[in-house]
Amino acid sequence: MKILKISRGFDLNVAEQPDLNCAQLALPSSLGCCAGDIPHIRPKLLVKEGQRVKTGDALFTDKRDTTIQYVSPGTGQVEKVIYGHRRRLMEVVIATESEDEYVEYDPVDLDGIIDMPRDALVTVLKKGGLWQGLRQFPALDFADPDHSPALIIVVMDGNDIFSPRPGIILKDNITAFEAGMAVLRRFSNRLAVVCRKSSLEGIREQSSSVADQITHAAPDIYPAWLPGAVLYQIKQQAAENSTWYIRLDHLVMMGRFLLSGRYPVEKIVTITRPGEQHPHMRVRQGMPLSALIGAMPGNSIVTTGRFNGRVLEKDAHIGFFENTVNIIETGPEEEMFGFARPGLDKPTLSSTFLSSLFRRPANMDCTLHGETRACINCSYCERICPNDLMPSFIMKALHAGELEDALALGLMDCCRCGLCSFACPSKIELTRILSDAMDAYYKDKQ
Ligand code: SF4
Ligand code: SF4
Repeated sequence: MKILKISRGFDLNVAEQPDLNCAQLALPSSLGCCAGDIPHIRPKLLVKEGQRVKTGDALFTDKRDTTIQYVSPGTGQVEKVIYGHRRRLMEVVIATESEDEYVEYDPVDLDGIIDMPRDALVTVLKKGGLWQGLRQFPALDFADPDHSPALIIVVMDGNDIFSPRPGIILKDNITAFEAGMAVLRRFSNRLAVVCRKSSLEGIREQSSSVADQITHAAPDIYPAWLPGAVLYQIKQQAAENSTWYIRLDHLVMMGRFLLSGRYPVEKIVTITRPGEQHPHMRVRQGMPLSALIGAMPGNSIVTTGRFNGRVLEKDAHIGFFENTVNIIETGPEEEMFGFARPGLDKPTLSSTFLSSLFRRPANMDCTLHGETRACINCSYCERICPNDLMPSFIMKALHAGELEDALALGLMDCCRCGLCSFACPSKIELTRILSDAMDAYYKDKQ
């Protein structure tokens, strides 16, 4: 096993780490299948309000590849179809029945996965709603099955500092993990299995054979374990620019689906809130936020990632790619005599607060401590970027319309970790500016 080194990033000592116990939540009265958290999708609705669907029935597809289906996480009636800006499909809400009736596929064992024609494997995974868990660099779109990637990265830990721990996801899922790995070996000879150093023990407790397949351990410095940061560290040749990656929870879902012939309806979610420690939660795919956290707390926002997630409305449902719910205080509009407060419990990068002198866990909030200002060339964004980019230079090239310069400065190497935005004392949303430019460039090239 190799130990990844990361020279930059944020060794964030934050409070609110989830408890390692796991609680089971009951089936809620509604479940949602979201299109809003799926990168690049052009959704096409396949059902009508009032229609009854089984668990695993297709709800919508992607106009760019209509063989990829997004399926119902429960059985019941289509209660509501929610559209966003320009009538873009955002979510299909199902009013659930108490018993699941599944769309059934032929189960396949490990030998069957190895022997199945590759086209048939892709077809069943696309139809079953699992292919989209495999993503392809650099745009992080769904993987192109006509391409044989030089490398596939399996990311054992999620996108957030509080993502569910792999030892908990693996519990009772070792065979499903092996089935998922057998699928990946059909597409590439080179697999990199990466976990946080702090996750190794929990993985070994569940299975020494899974632990033996870990090829790289990343330090607990955010975002060392994110796929884009890992690829930047281990890339050996230009062909690996179109590497695929998959998260452990989606790999396990893929394996469960093939072994059972049924869409796997459960996932593990973590909830973090200042001053509270929640256990991991075993919940339904598409769980409503209200069933997870109860009433929306005042003076707070709910996000699916501390640095790079989306903000959830109170009636939202958890998306396919989301497994972390962060409740973050927005803080008072103006903190009385804030300039005179030492900030012992506030995280800081620039030593603005006294917390920089201590290793006690800090509570994070959304207080901006000021409005957006012009870039002051302080280079904080550059000093924190894990992929050695100069975000302010890239931003200035983009603002000047010099896309070629932005690409030459490494725009497509950005792993969208969000740290540059967090570090910027001028509150410039660098990550959003770079992400939007990467997505626009990819869309233009399609
Ligand atoms: S440019 Fe910003 S978002 Fe991109 S990798 Fe660097 S710090 Fe992360
Ligand atoms: S951190 Fe913000 S203000 Fe400082 S150089 Fe980067 S963009 Fe400019």
